[in-house]
Amino acid sequence: MEATLLSQFAHALAAHKIRVIDLSQPLEADTPIIQLPPEFGKSAPFHLEEISKYDSRGPAWYWNNFSCGEHTGTHFDAPIHWITGKDYPQNSTDTIAVEKLLAPACVIDVSTEAAGNPDFLLAPQHIRTWEDQYGRIEAGSWVLMRTDWSKRKEAAFLNIRQDGSHVPGPHPELVPFLAKERNVIGWGSEGVGTDAGQAFRFEPPFPCHSVMHGNNRFGLASLTNLDKLPPKGAILVTPPLKIVGGSGSPCRVLALVEASSLAEGDW
Ligand code: MN
Repeated sequence: MEATLLSQFAHALAAHKIRVIDLSQPLEADTPIIQLPPEFGKSAPFHLEEISKYDSRGPAWYWNNFSCGEHTGTHFDAPIHWITGKDYPQNSTDTIAVEKLLAPACVIDVSTEAAGNPDFLLAPQHIRTWEDQYGRIEAGSWVLMRTDWSKRKEAAFLNIRQDGSHVPGPHPELVPFLAKERNVIGWGSEGVGTDAGQAFRFEPPFPCHSVMHGNNRFGLASLTNLDKLPPKGAILVTPPLKIVGGSGSPCRVLALVEASSLAEGDW
């Protein structure tokens, strides 16, 4: 029988010529969640409540109830999350076209810059430098900002000081450039949200939310293992839960990567 595209894909997976990399953080009670000023509504942390565990409550089965905010841990941001994206059709977790939940990724490594500056902002000039080396960002790609921020734990991850959170993110000039001049599908960060910690001071405030969702694009936050991805060539799998009218959801973000593109020692 002639090999179809999908049978070739299945064989490449079985032969480990295509690797699957988990870009998700563990989801548990102490998973960090975004902290907003006290006048705003609060997102609940992840909570797990055991229903039964092979005991009198259920002799042969184990299961839990869980609850959390939609934007908890590694998660997907839908356009309806922001007021600028509220009127697009198919803008919530249940209605986004499923074809959009598989897309290539460009990984911009600024881990060195971020290590020395928690307020580092990725600007159009960094993208141009990256494109000189790896080629133009193709329409429909995710742009993922690798900062290695996901290696931080607890308080150092949120990095809150008296004047707010200090976490790297996109420069306000970068977001319209990516949305309009590169036609990306979305933006992904390792921090607790897609925007920089100080983005409430930017013009516009929270540009990644305001401009990405205002252009019907998506976000991924609290990603990890971006250091395991090649600069170009990975395919992301990013389906949020099918919450009716949902603004986002925790997401098991997976990356498919050709083994030949992985650095020695990653496996
Ligand atoms: Mn979010």
